[in-house]
Formats: sequence, structure tokens, C-alpha cells
Amino acid sequence: MHLYHKVIRQNTALHEMASTDGLSGLANRRAFDERLEQDTQRTQRDQLPISLILIDIDNFKQFNDTYGHPNGDRCIRHVSDKMAATINRSTDFIARFGGEEFAVLLPSHTINQALTVAERLRKAIAQSAMELDDGSEVRVTASFGVATISSHAVYDEQALINRADTALYQAKASGRNCVRSHEQTTLPEEPSYPSHPMSGHATRLEA
Ligand code: GH3
Ligand code: MG
Ligand code: MG
Repeated sequence: MHLYHKVIRQNTALHEMASTDGLSGLANRRAFDERLEQDTQRTQRDQLPISLILIDIDNFKQFNDTYGHPNGDRCIRHVSDKMAATINRSTDFIARFGGEEFAVLLPSHTINQALTVAERLRKAIAQSAMELDDGSEVRVTASFGVATISSHAVYDEQALINRADTALYQAKASGRNCVRSHEQTTLPEEPSYPSHPMSGHATRLEA
């Protein structure tokens, strides 16, 4: 029994290591992908919305060039800590999406609720100074793209990521340090026309 518990503990520790990003201490991309699939399925089943915020540190290449790569790493940790302290961690899920990009998954959040969270995160980053390795302080900002699957729509994870990414691109184009959202196209669900048994292909009525 003692050995059994030891194995369970080791397994849990291994799984945690495999799901955690070493630099930021946040969940990694693999854990995010897993969680996105689970949460999308759950919210679809419960007919709840789900929102995604993609975050990208502004002018980070220049930050690295100016202050050096180790300070760049320090900046990623600083931004991660600020965001982790700002979101409600019990239901919301924050991950390092890659490089200087992060993702926050917000099950049950409407677009307006997600925009409020994004704005809170934006302020938390913009208003806090970070300490460089020489003890001096600088400020960084980040841009935010928000997208939502509303409860009556098609639950497509990849489309959700793409729309949040488009919104993030718009935030960059609008001058950075801001939040933008991508509206869902609210077309009514496409009716499906069964294929005719003889013709072997589906017929569709044109609108
Ligand atoms: P934008 O405001 O448009 O996002 O500009 P940017 O400079 O932030 O974007 P760009 O994609 O040109 O540069 C991203 C930089 O992030 C380049 C890369 O060296 C740096 N970077 C990515 N991952 C890490 C990391 O783990 N540590 C450090 N120090 N830098 C990283
Ligand atoms: Mg980037
Ligand atoms: Mg960037």
C-alpha cells in the first residue's frame, strides 16, 4: 500500500511537470490544448458560452535588444505573475501559449465579461513596474485579443483561437496596450439537407 501511494504521488508530480512551463510556472501549451478541449465540450453540453483571451507582450524584441535576454525572461515571469494574481484561478485557466504570448480561457464568460477581465489584466500589467537585474525599474505593456463562443453557436476550438488571434492583431494595429474583440458571425445554423439515396450527393437550396 505504501508503494502504491508513492507511485500515485510520483505520477501526479510527473504529470504536473509535463503540463507546466519551466520559465513562467504557468500551464504550458500542451496543458492549454487539453483544457480547451475539455472546457469546450463541457460548456457545449451545458449550453454555456466560453471566452478566450490571447495576450502578447508589446515590442518585446526591442525589450530583449535593449535590456538583454535574461531581463526578457524576467519580464515574461513578471507578466505571468501579474496575470496569475489578477484572474480568479478556480475556474479561469491561464497558460503560456508560446514565446511572449499567453492565453486565458474563461468558461461561462460572455464577450462582455471576458472584455472586463482582459481590461483588468491590461491595467495590471501596464500599471506595475518590473525590476531589471541591475535594480532599475521599467514598465511593459501587452495587447489583448478576445473571442467568445456564445451558447447557441458552433463550438469550434480552432475557430475560437483564430478569432482571438485576429482580435489581437487588431489590438496591435490600433497602437498596442489595448483590448480588441472579434465578433462572432451570427449566421443561423445551416440546415442540413439529407442526400438523396439515388443521386448520391447533397442538394442545397441557395439563399
Ligand atoms: P509586437 O508588439 O508586435 O508583438 O512586437 P514584438 O517585438 O513583441 O514581436 P516579435 O514577434 O517581433 O518579437 C517577439 C520576441 O520575443 C522575439 C523573441 O526573441 C522574443 N522571445 C520569445 N520567447 C522568448 C523567451 O522565452 N525569452 C526571451 N527573453 N525572449 C523571447
Ligand atoms: Mg508574439
Ligand atoms: Mg510581442
